[in-house]
Amino acid sequence: MDHIRNHLKNSRRVLLVSHVNPDGDAIGSLIAMGLALEAMGLSATLCNASPIPAVYRFLPAVQRITDRIDGTQTYDTAMVLDCGDLKRVGNRLMEAINRIPIIVNVDHHITNTGFGHLQQVEPFACATAEIVYRLIRSFEVPVSRSIATAIYTGILTDTGSFRFANTNRAAFRICEEMVALGVDPSKVAQHVYGTYSLGRIKLLNLALDSIEISNNGKLSLMCLSQGMLQETGTQSEDADGLINYARSIRNVKLAAMIQERPNSGTHAEGEGRYHVSMRSDGTVDVSEIASYFGGGGHVSAAGFTIESTLSNIKSEIMGLADTL
Ligand code: AMP
Ligand code: MN
Ligand code: MN
Repeated sequence: MDHIRNHLKNSRRVLLVSHVNPDGDAIGSLIAMGLALEAMGLSATLCNASPIPAVYRFLPAVQRITDRIDGTQTYDTAMVLDCGDLKRVGNRLMEAINRIPIIVNVDHHITNTGFGHLQQVEPFACATAEIVYRLIRSFEVPVSRSIATAIYTGILTDTGSFRFANTNRAAFRICEEMVALGVDPSKVAQHVYGTYSLGRIKLLNLALDSIEISNNGKLSLMCLSQGMLQETGTQSEDADGLINYARSIRNVKLAAMIQERPNSGTHAEGEGRYHVSMRSDGTVDVSEIASYFGGGGHVSAAGFTIESTLSNIKSEIMGLADTL
């Protein structure tokens, strides 16, 4: 903690970045840290390569997040949040970050590669927002209601509303403090879980219909195609969380959701680009499986992106059922 604070005390211009296809933790951590650095008197640029999902656009200062950086600006420090691997920021931003003298890596993925010059990597933290909270406390700047809302949202979403295996005492302790600082839990929940488009609910219907289960009942598989997104007028951000339905089936230890990525037809015969999300009941380490396929994550939530045919991916994943 202190090594990061001491470094920041001598910095002026910081570029903050989190992972592509951002979730509530990636966005909440970015905003909370950005606002705290500004409160310390630093200049902070908030950056993410992907669009911000509609459900997170209520967050304070969210409009400050930009997808491109001004080439004429120079930064002395890059802070990379919620990324197990620097590549997770996207290729364009990774190149920009690699030109910045000091890279600070703040993350909670067990598969973190240890990139950067300064690290605060805590695999037992429930969310990057938990680590961001402690860093901000070490900076001794006041936690405004805006910062509190961003931290609360990061912890709420990464713990699946305090249900997933990463839910720890800090999650409750910090969120209680954020509520004391003015966060309204029902308002946040209404934005995050209660403002879905009708298309998203229709997409849920198609996703549920696609569920297949292994012979031993321990593995469930969900598939989402680009056609399903078109049919329902949705975007890939609307697929967020759907995998939890596949995970919630009795006796299922491992659930996978295979999501076709756009322009996946431009590859070799029948091949496409797919994102595979995996969730486990905690008895199977899905971060190990995801790492094997070039991705990463946590023990009970992980993912990877792969170029292959859908049938190959499906049979490879179904093949895991016998090991469960
Ligand atoms: P998702 O599959 O997008 O729901 O992500 C589940 C978890 O795995 C998150 O903590 C992600 O940060 C992580 N993850 C997803 N995709 C990748 C990837 N390609 N490389 C490394 N980690 C990933
Ligand atoms: Mn994340
Ligand atoms: Mn996270």
